[in-house]
Amino acid sequence: MSENNPQLTLFDILKGVKKFRTDIYPERKELYCQLANGQSPKTLFITCADSRISPESLTQQPPGNLFVLRNIGNIVPAYGNSFGGVTSAVEYAVSALKVSTIIICGHSDCGAMSALIHPEKLNSMPAVRKWLQYAETAHAITDALSATDVGPESIQSLTEHNVLLQLAHLRTHPSVAGALAKKEIILQGWYYDIPKGKIYVLDEETRNDMTVDEAIFMLQNRINQNTKS
Ligand SMILES: [Zn+2]
Repeated sequence: MSENNPQLTLFDILKGVKKFRTDIYPERKELYCQLANGQSPKTLFITCADSRISPESLTQQPPGNLFVLRNIGNIVPAYGNSFGGVTSAVEYAVSALKVSTIIICGHSDCGAMSALIHPEKLNSMPAVRKWLQYAETAHAITDALSATDVGPESIQSLTEHNVLLQLAHLRTHPSVAGALAKKEIILQGWYYDIPKGKIYVLDEETRNDMTVDEAIFMLQNRINQNTKS
């Protein structure tokens, strides 16, 4: 871990910007010039603010493809509970950009999830504590379904229940509900296992995890059926 020196941190970031300008930008100049006149991302990607998640790298998408919304605990308050940045970003993505997929991605070792189990960690952070109330129901579900242990497995379970809860909240947003009714949008929940480098797709009906290979297989079958009919 590097030493916590603000000037060195900023120096490192500015050096990265310089490298982007000299090495990365020239290779993709055409793409950046195309993007100058507007965006038309097809996916709204909602995830935790955690620094270990890199949505574009994880999904191998170029700039312009993901509309990214991040906050502590990948939370989407139910419609009407909070008219802030999350609600407006969801509305804009669905109504103006017409995204066709929304992914909510939780992750291993999530500080927000462990704070739900250990709220005393948030004694000096009243704003975070208030924000996490939107995930409290996931904690109640995990508690109801599991034993009293709070090992890594129960944190994973809590994280997955939180993703499913936030998907349910997302459906209360009028723009999302309308697009779902017209079958113009797909919602999906993911759990990202950071040390394994693996994504698990959460099946909302069975509440089980699917591997990405299984999810691709299922989707391929549906696509084939739709093209036949
Ligand atoms: Zn997190």
